[in-house]
Amino acid sequence: MTILGTGAALATGDRVQTGLLVDVSGSTLLVDCGSGVLHRLAGVGRDPTEIDAVLLSHTHLDHVSDLPGLVKARWMIDQSPTQIIGPPGTPDDVGPLFEIDGQSDRVEVSSFETGAKPGDRIEIDVPGTTCESVSATPTVHSRQGVGYRFGTRFGFAGDTEASATLLAFFDGVDVLVHDCAFPSGGEPDNHPTPEALAEALESADPDIDRLYLTHLYPDAACRADEAREIVAEATDAAVHVADDTDDVVE
Ligand SMILES: [Zn+2]
Ligand SMILES: [Zn+2]
Repeated sequence: MTILGTGAALATGDRVQTGLLVDVSGSTLLVDCGSGVLHRLAGVGRDPTEIDAVLLSHTHLDHVSDLPGLVKARWMIDQSPTQIIGPPGTPDDVGPLFEIDGQSDRVEVSSFETGAKPGDRIEIDVPGTTCESVSATPTVHSRQGVGYRFGTRFGFAGDTEASATLLAFFDGVDVLVHDCAFPSGGEPDNHPTPEALAEALESADPDIDRLYLTHLYPDAACRADEAREIVAEATDAAVHVADDTDDVVE
């Protein structure tokens, strides 16, 4: 699993928006595709046509804005259509992105049902792939979204406020990548502060080997070491600040 982008909606200069490349059960998935992710993919030596499906955590622009570029690149290389799957509303939300440049026929967008609340477990069938053990759970965010869990190896919490119930969903994964968008001392609002994430970790006490903090706004990115120290006080997991192109599971 490679974290391609660790930034948010406001640019930092060195963190592109959200994207993660996951090799699982013989298939390759791209989770989210924000601005800059297409370039980061090339930067780690991977080809857009290797991607069997794109999973979306939600449809905020910083998670979908490179989708048209990805679809076009795949079509230019080998005419392969792109499969995109996400929570309810995904087809309506991202469909207009492909109306530019005549791309609508080059993409297949579908959605899956989600549970009512964080912690509900939804098994995800990713059509056309050999993926197994992919599950999702609702997040706490301003748009309907999910976090994904890939067996016992890896979890991605998506955009979300800190939630003990959500963290319990990821109990037992080797690696969890979690939103830590705001700097210390702020107010949690659709995203956590380090203090809010620490409090939820202390409450849920999930068994996680390594925790990566991501989705950093510029004012959080420049205080990332402080955030890491605050979160690390609350968990036995090794806590890291994710950087673009970090390989976190090999
Ligand atoms: Zn969002
Ligand atoms: Zn976001």
